[in-house]
Amino acid sequence: MIIPRISLGLLAAILITGCHSTKKITKADTSLSDSLKVHISFLADDRLEGRRTGTPGEELARDYISQAFARIGLLPKGTEWYPQSFQVNEGRQIDSVTEFVINGNRLQTGKEFFPFPFSGDAMIEAMPAIAVQELEMPWFIDLKETLEENQKNPHFDLPDYIRTNSKKAKDRGATAIILYNSSVIEDKLVFDKKDRSPSPGIPVLYVAKEAAKKYFSDSIATLNIKLRSSVSDKMRGGYNVIGYIDNKAPTTVIVGAHYDHLGYGEDGNSRHTSHEAAIHNGADDNASGTAALIELARKLKTSNATANNYLFIAFSGEELGLYGSKYFTDHPTVDLKSVNYMINMDMVGRLSDSNKVLTVGGYGTSPAWGEYYKQFDQMNNGPANPGLIFKYDSSGTGPSDHTSFYRKDIPVLFYFTGLHTDYHKPSDDADKINYNGQAKIVEHIYSLVEWMNARPRLAFTKTRETQTTTSARFSVSMGIMPDYTFTGAGVKADGVSEGKPAQKAGLKAGDIILQIGEYNVSSMESYMQTLGKFKKGDKAKVKYQRGKDVLETTVEF
Ligand SMILES: [Zn+2]
Repeated sequence: MIIPRISLGLLAAILITGCHSTKKITKADTSLSDSLKVHISFLADDRLEGRRTGTPGEELARDYISQAFARIGLLPKGTEWYPQSFQVNEGRQIDSVTEFVINGNRLQTGKEFFPFPFSGDAMIEAMPAIAVQELEMPWFIDLKETLEENQKNPHFDLPDYIRTNSKKAKDRGATAIILYNSSVIEDKLVFDKKDRSPSPGIPVLYVAKEAAKKYFSDSIATLNIKLRSSVSDKMRGGYNVIGYIDNKAPTTVIVGAHYDHLGYGEDGNSRHTSHEAAIHNGADDNASGTAALIELARKLKTSNATANNYLFIAFSGEELGLYGSKYFTDHPTVDLKSVNYMINMDMVGRLSDSNKVLTVGGYGTSPAWGEYYKQFDQMNNGPANPGLIFKYDSSGTGPSDHTSFYRKDIPVLFYFTGLHTDYHKPSDDADKINYNGQAKIVEHIYSLVEWMNARPRLAFTKTRETQTTTSARFSVSMGIMPDYTFTGAGVKADGVSEGKPAQKAGLKAGDIILQIGEYNVSSMESYMQTLGKFKKGDKAKVKYQRGKDVLETTVEF
């Protein structure tokens, strides 16, 4: 059972501060943009500390949305009342029991030494000699020679070398590997929490230069060591919030928006340059979409558009890689086969009053969208003009939650008022929201849903795929859409783009890339680094896993 965190006192305090406005338009509009303001003022308040998944701020928002759904009269459709909890795998972490003691001196974990993310869990007490690699003993390996030999080799991948040779050492009888670097060459070795490569089954530790100089300079010495290596997955909980209007209809329309944001920017997805931690209030991203979600629920609750049921989902975990929507589509609380279409709203609060441009993504995922929007092309200058200029993007994928539904062959629409200078910064605040503009967008989406009510179930059409993250581009691409929630070794393809190298080589959605050419692909990072090593026209062998089979093919970039 989830204990609501939000006290009525806190709710009232925040609501009163956010309610003063001076505009002159219809009562309905006024109340709609004022309601939007109330929601955004609450969700973007400092007390919610940027609503980062897995924090009290997220829970305050979760409860606010649950209570709003309850007040509107939506049926709870989560797994625990309105909320649906899920886990986010944050990557590998060094457990506190990890230790390394040499001749009675305890080394500082993380600073003087660290186990690699793929290090095996074990506890060892032994008296090994540094220079001797004995059976059933820990082995010391100085990286000096390897680094010097490969100093001029741009393709040399030290972490990959360590992974491969740890396995070999284990097979030759080592019970642990203790790596150090006595050369002047920088090895840049760090604990990479995203490294998911399989463990060789023995501890693999790295001792930093200072500590190595202190304890390993006499290579014929025998050391009295005690080590314990323990590395595990760091898990974090999150909550989708789900409400339902049951019109006893054969099909269901899903309306969604993510409500999580960046917190203080701890997850490395902030564009805030100052080192000072600051609350990322996320008024536009995506308190605006969440507010629109609540107000669309209110309107549809009293609407005559009852040919569909309506499911409203406030996702969490979006900023970490679409975790909440991916979890929902893998653990749906309604039958996905009965879903007619999905509407996603992410950043709908900053409509420009000058160009009035609203991006409509997913336009190519059903012919019905074209039929609907056709009417506006003629009336843009007419009296029925919705006061919006539509910019269409046909792709069903993009950096937001509709992608998870498109992957399940569900027609989607994605609404977005565009990037701005406050994107992913603490300055994305409630006083910069265009509330009247957003009210127009909510009214527009409502009229689309009403229009669709009279139509038969929508047909789904596949579209081209676009980048699902705003990260860097490379000189070559395989044309796969990575699954960011995959926690195994390698990179799992969530989708494969038509006509791209991967598709031409016969790779499919669900395949796990393990190796490209001579490079092991252990994580998203190593995949991206590996792509950087190829140029157009290059051919490379790709080792991949499909189901239980490990297969091979050749891609041409
Ligand atoms: Zn967003």
